Amino acid sequence: MSSLQVTATINQAATDFTQLWANWKVPAISSAARKLARETRITNIVNSFNFLSLPAVSFANLGPNTLGGFNWTDWSLTINDVFTSDDDITYRNFLELCRTIYHESRHCEQVYRSAQGLGAYRPATPLIGLKPPDMTEAEMIQMASDGGGGVASKVSAFSGNPLNQAATRVKLISKLLNIPAAQATAAEASSADFTNFIGLAKPAWFKRRTVKLEVEEWMRSIAKSSLFGMTMFVEQGASDMNKMYKDLPVELDAHKIEDAVAAKTEQDIGHAIATHGALARTNATFGP
Ligand SMILES: [Zn+2]
Repeated sequence: MSSLQVTATINQAATDFTQLWANWKVPAISSAARKLARETRITNIVNSFNFLSLPAVSFANLGPNTLGGFNWTDWSLTINDVFTSDDDITYRNFLELCRTIYHESRHCEQVYRSAQGLGAYRPATPLIGLKPPDMTEAEMIQMASDGGGGVASKVSAFSGNPLNQAATRVKLISKLLNIPAAQATAAEASSADFTNFIGLAKPAWFKRRTVKLEVEEWMRSIAKSSLFGMTMFVEQGASDMNKMYKDLPVELDAHKIEDAVAAKTEQDIGHAIATHGALARTNATFGP
């Protein structure tokens, strides 16, 4: 069972980030070639998280105060290319880049696990999957329908409860979370994995009593954001102003996960951020 919260995944990401740091000045040919090479390496790292429906990774100038973002409506992950174009990147900023890659990937996992949970829901065994706590089954069916005809005629159009049908669950996932049909379909098809995910040891920072209830919290947060027209998680640079934002379950979780990967990466690279954070990659301390 793989997840971004599992130690093996965190350790592998730290190994990959250490390699990214080692190769920062490769190839020597040009700055443009190095930027492209770094972006390819980062995309490959995200693509190694293949236990998820993989996001499309892109790089763009997001301005000075934004790190990156994950947009669940088109399943895209964007990283600010001020990082990847910086030949003289400081060690601190490099670790910030690593944090951002893992943080945004975790948001992708949060949405995907929420979708898998909805895909695992069955009327006869309602405790196995996720059900929106503020919706009845009739409302779930109504949401999954294409409109017109009312609930009763929709129900009678199928034998038994429509939520027993994969196609109904895919539509529900897609509409409730506002994610593309392809990712809703993949999440539904892999929904057996939800049981494995909620069976993992509960991370210490989860606030709810069980892993499943924590995912339910994520699901509600994503569904609510979609309702109000929000489409993505966006990370700003550290400031006191976003402290409240960081207390949201989805953000607290993503920040704790990035802390874990940053600590392991710092350890693997072998230099302390406290003493070497301000040094550039071109400093002799870090080797060729
Ligand atoms: Zn975030």
